Amino acid sequence: MPRKPRTYWTDRAEFYVVTGRLQHYACFHCCKAFKQPFGSGERLCPQCRWPMTNMGTDFKAPPQKDTGQWRKVEALAEAGVRFFPSPPDGLPGERPVALAEVPAFLNRIRPPTAAQRLLAGRPQRSRAPREGKFSVQGQAPHQTFFLFGDRLTQGQHLEVWHSGIWQPARLWGWNGAGGPSHLVLLDEQGQSTGQLPLDPTLRLRWPQ
Ligand SMILES: [Zn+2]
Repeated sequence: MPRKPRTYWTDRAEFYVVTGRLQHYACFHCCKAFKQPFGSGERLCPQCRWPMTNMGTDFKAPPQKDTGQWRKVEALAEAGVRFFPSPPDGLPGERPVALAEVPAFLNRIRPPTAAQRLLAGRPQRSRAPREGKFSVQGQAPHQTFFLFGDRLTQGQHLEVWHSGIWQPARLWGWNGAGGPSHLVLLDEQGQSTGQLPLDPTLRLRWPQ
């Protein structure tokens, strides 16, 4: 008699409730991961209150000072790649070793469609303005900020004109409307070098 094919849990939430396996929630601001039970809803970092990302049960947090590895796992997380056991062997599968390998890795696991390849080969002719100032709805501290019509949220990367150069920055903090309250200036390694209040005179642009 043929063996019954092995079945896999398809409902991850049920699996983790049954097994009690802890998830690794990562804070990309503190470069730390925290083991917590699976659950829905937003998890905030116990240290800095930044929203954390569930990187999966098999995630191994890089050393806190290894910013290159942290930027790598953040890039994977942004692309939806996590570290959950998966068929056929119950391991998370192959992952890139370094940040520089991430684009090729993503290309391999999700090859671009013909339309995406066509668009990628064309010069970008966006009519969006290169830079601008944000607009505000509501009164402080319950303000919502927009740049070129897009609502600004925590964690978004921007570039800000400051001290005579364009500097990378990230939206940060919480105001009364649940939106960001200021900009954190970043160096090339993604480390904070200071902060600016969200002032409507700031010159901003999306990262190039
Ligand atoms: Zn944190």
